[in-house]
Amino acid sequence: MKKELLDLMNCPQCRSALSESGDSLQCTKCGFNARMVQGIPLFTDVPATIEPWEKVERGPDQGTAWRKSNWKFLNAFVSKLPVDAKILDVGAGHGDFADIFEGRHYYSLDIVPYAEVDLVADLGAVNPFRDNAFDVVVLMNVLEHVYESQNLLKSIERIVTANGSVVITVPFLLKVHQAPFDFARYTPYFIEKMAADAGLKVESLQGYYDTQYLLNESLGNAWQYSIKTQSKPQQFLARALVFVIQRLVNWFGKVTRKGFIADTHSQPNPAPVGYLVVLRKKA
Ligand SMILES: [Zn+2]
Repeated sequence: MKKELLDLMNCPQCRSALSESGDSLQCTKCGFNARMVQGIPLFTDVPATIEPWEKVERGPDQGTAWRKSNWKFLNAFVSKLPVDAKILDVGAGHGDFADIFEGRHYYSLDIVPYAEVDLVADLGAVNPFRDNAFDVVVLMNVLEHVYESQNLLKSIERIVTANGSVVITVPFLLKVHQAPFDFARYTPYFIEKMAADAGLKVESLQGYYDTQYLLNESLGNAWQYSIKTQSKPQQFLARALVFVIQRLVNWFGKVTRKGFIADTHSQPNPAPVGYLVVLRKKA
């Protein structure tokens, strides 16, 4: 376990120091104990029903348009941070965005012991970090997978330094994914209320707007799920139509605005793919 990370932690029960001994992290005072599996301390049990997620290719140009917008947004934010900023990536998985944090004081956790994470904890239930430990906490496409997300955000507020930030991306128009661990879609009004309740100020609330992407998503779903039940000639006609519409959508993409990130409240389009948010802890 990284020494500098251990210095940012304490006992989740009594807030005394933790020390590494053998295959566990132990409280120096109250007897709290987190067992370690392959060097990763487990502060909460791994849910038995969870299906570990596939590793996503890294890089700015990998994956969906939504993912690319996330990369651009996060990269721009992180590039403005001072070099000594301490960053915690919550729900980091395999470290899909980890390349952005190269050379920085970067730590990651998840509820699954992926080889890439520093520790396993459900922060809404057990938070083993000191008050004001991090300058930035990052939640990339995590909140929709957390049932008690308001508790999580409150728990995170405690460990962010005064004036520190919580950076969030969360999908709005995205199909159910990583089932059964997909619990919610958030509106801007929910995000604003949740932030206020956690004692955080909304610094920016942007959406990623991409009509062509949404049309293509719907067509993909139509191709895969809507056609099967029809009779053979109907199937043929339906597939031909989807094919033609897909061509039309490609043309449409050439004469309309490409996907873009814009402030939610200055943008009349109420249907973004997702939201990209920076919250700030009050000084
Ligand atoms: Zn303790």
